[in-house]
Amino acid sequence: MDLSYILNHLGEERETYRGAVSPPIFQSAIFAFPTVAAFREGFRDEFKRTTYTRGNNPTVEILRKKVAALEGAEDCLMFGSGAGAIAAGVIASVSAGDHVICVHKPYSWTRTLLKDLLARFAVTYTFIDGTDIANIEEALTPATKLIVLESPNSMTFELQDLVAVAQLARARGIRTLCDNSYASPLNQSPLALGIDMVAHSATKYLNGHSDVVAGALCASEEICREVFRGPYMTCGAVLSPHDAWLMIRGLRTLPVRMQRIAETTRQVLAFLEAHESVVKVYYPQSKSNPQFALAQKQMHGASGLLTIELRVADVAGVERFCNALERFLMTVSWGGYEALIFPVCAVFPANASIANPAGLPLSLVRLSIGLEEPEVLIADLQQALAQI
Ligand SMILES: *Cc1c(COP(=O)(O)O)cnc(C)c1O
Repeated sequence: MDLSYILNHLGEERETYRGAVSPPIFQSAIFAFPTVAAFREGFRDEFKRTTYTRGNNPTVEILRKKVAALEGAEDCLMFGSGAGAIAAGVIASVSAGDHVICVHKPYSWTRTLLKDLLARFAVTYTFIDGTDIANIEEALTPATKLIVLESPNSMTFELQDLVAVAQLARARGIRTLCDNSYASPLNQSPLALGIDMVAHSATKYLNGHSDVVAGALCASEEICREVFRGPYMTCGAVLSPHDAWLMIRGLRTLPVRMQRIAETTRQVLAFLEAHESVVKVYYPQSKSNPQFALAQKQMHGASGLLTIELRVADVAGVERFCNALERFLMTVSWGGYEALIFPVCAVFPANASIANPAGLPLSLVRLSIGLEEPEVLIADLQQALAQI
């Protein structure tokens, strides 16, 4: 299936909505049946029937089909957030007494899910450095049921060798989940590499407009059914029809956004790597990345999120740089049409030491490149770096 067919046509039954080119928003909680027999049929397999919007909704279904096709998955479930999608994939895969292996710097709420929430229900966990497969092998126990990956992660972009992890897990009947938010379905296809479940914060590139919080979980129909009957229906973190419609609209331009963002990021990267006030740039496709070869092998293209380490004496220097930027908005999240910065020092007290031996150095600032003209962003970075 080609990309423009998926984005422009797949799942859209235009003849049933009088030819409307943009699909209707089925803003209905419930769907009525003409007879008891039909109603009974609606209950028989809620996964396939449209009865109640916590289960299925026609607008959300269009989006499910598109995101599943983008990931090369049999099916996809949409959630009210990326955290909801990850939690559902994990909760559906483990029971009390099971063990989960997870990369050591996952998205913060993925970490909290394992460390604080599931630990209360007797699910044990080991966080490992996933850049070396030996660490995963070493962490395996007879109780290991799930391996949670995030390749690359969204701050310092460490990768895992997805083929190697999938082989190791499959041989032992262990399920794998990969957070693919950074790469987007266009730049990496974990299911094709043998991973069982792909999760997305659809808030980021998939929607791309910083106006919807959403998540996706892509997998085989069998796994999707299991997640549907379990955490999807019981926890109910579903996406609303209106947000699904906004997401369908956002998805239409995913390829052009990703192309533009990758090209601008290439130029910004070259500027930053040559700048004396930048000690180091973290970016999967940078030649300075020790995992560059793996990134070339398992990713199809580049995204627009990169992190710089500033040459600064103290946190005040980082603050001068960030406060001076005029075309980058300072906030959480990433993946939208607009350039953003996220200074690591913002989540620490103002008097914290820049080296921060227990965690990431406070001299790190993450940039999310948007659809701006490359020269505008470079000029803004140049004037702000001069303020350090
Ligand atoms: C933002 C993010 C999430 C969580 O997604 P929400 O939509 O905010 O719930 C998960 N993983 C990664 C890598 C993220 O950046």
